[in-house]
This record gives sequence, structure tokens and C-alpha cells, in this order.
Amino acid sequence: MGQEQQDGEEYLFKIVLIGDSAVGKSNLLSRFARNEFDSNSKATIGVEFQTQAVEIDGKEVKAQIWDTAGQERFRAVTSAYYRGAVGALVVYDITRRSSFDSVKRWLDELSKINPQWYNHAVHCDTAVARMLVGNKCDLENIRDVSTEEGKSLAEEEGLFFMETSALDATNVQTAFEIVIREIHNNISRKVL
Ligand code: GDP
Ligand code: MG
Repeated sequence: MGQEQQDGEEYLFKIVLIGDSAVGKSNLLSRFARNEFDSNSKATIGVEFQTQAVEIDGKEVKAQIWDTAGQERFRAVTSAYYRGAVGALVVYDITRRSSFDSVKRWLDELSKINPQWYNHAVHCDTAVARMLVGNKCDLENIRDVSTEEGKSLAEEEGLFFMETSALDATNVQTAFEIVIREIHNNISRKVL
């Protein structure tokens, strides 16, 4: 959770997945962390996270990626879920416009985070690294939100943008890695 480990060479970053129910958050995480896809995935109640190590510029950084695991169905994502997050993937489903319309509401919730990153010596307040993710891009034939719309919303809000498919693995690795790299850069800039 944004804590420094050992001698400052290794970090653990908290990243949250947010977005409407059924946009594919859990599958993006299982694709990224275990290279798995589950076509029958059911929303379970509670908060879960996965820790994933990524090498950036020869350094191992660990991302602790949190999945809402169903809380969002009740629009009741707790503040504990967001606390300490330094990165976020805000996910919508390119085949479901209502999930795209919800993005602003998720960004509002996220902006209530006080973005802080602590270690013993340094207190940094960097911006939360945010990526807008249009998932299910394998379903081009029933697309309901154009790539351009996604791009321009991302530009307006100052977010990275990527269309992904958890099903066929398109851009999943890249989306997480861009966020992790940005966090790493933010923190390195502050620390050095
Ligand atoms: P969550 O509620 O946001 O965690 O969404 P899930 O990961 O549980 O996925 C919801 C449904 O969408 C499931 O039936 C998944 O199989 C399906 N799904 C998730 N990602 C994709 C994708 O990239 N492409 C397609 N075609 N289906 C997906
Ligand atoms: Mg889920």
C-alpha cells in the first residue's frame, strides 16, 4: 500500500480498479496477474487484491492491484478501498454506453482520495496515475462507444487511454504497465 520496502530499492504500489459492474475489471486483473480469463465470472462480495511484480528499468516494482469484487453493484465502494492508492484504472465496456457515462462519477470518487505516498524519510504527494480503459474491444461488431470518444474524454480529464480485451489479452499488460511505470516515475522524481 504505497509503503517502502527494505532499502528503498523495492516499492509496493496500491492500484485500484474501478468502473461499473460487469465491465471486465476482475477479468482484466486475472488476465494481467495469471493470464486467465473466466467467461462465467461472478461478482463476489468483498475486496480482493493481487500483488504482481513488474520490472521497470531493471528494478523490480510490486503493484498491489485491488479489485472491487462486487461492491460497485451497490454503488458502495468504501473509502478504505481507495485509501493510499497511487494509481487507478477506470474501466468501461465499449459495448455499453451507460458504463462510459459513469466514468465521470468514478473519477469524482477517485478525486476524493488524498493522494499520498509515505516512507520513513519522504512524504510525497504526487498525482494519482490514472488510465481510462475501454474494455471488450474484441466485440467490435456491437461497439457502442467509439475510440475517439474514449480518447477525447481521456484528454479532457488528463488520463492515459487504452482499449483492451481481457478475453483476447489485447493491451492488458500494456495498460497496467503504463500505470505502474508512471507511478514509478512520479515517485522517483520526488525521491531523488
Ligand atoms: P467486473 O464486474 O467489472 O469485474 O467484470 P467481470 O470481469 O466479472 O466481467 C463481466 C463479464 O464480461 C463476464 O461475463 C466476462 O466474461 C465478460 N468480459 C470481461 N472482459 C471481457 C472482454 O474483454 N471481452 C469480452 N467479450 N467479454 C469480457
Ligand atoms: Mg468483478
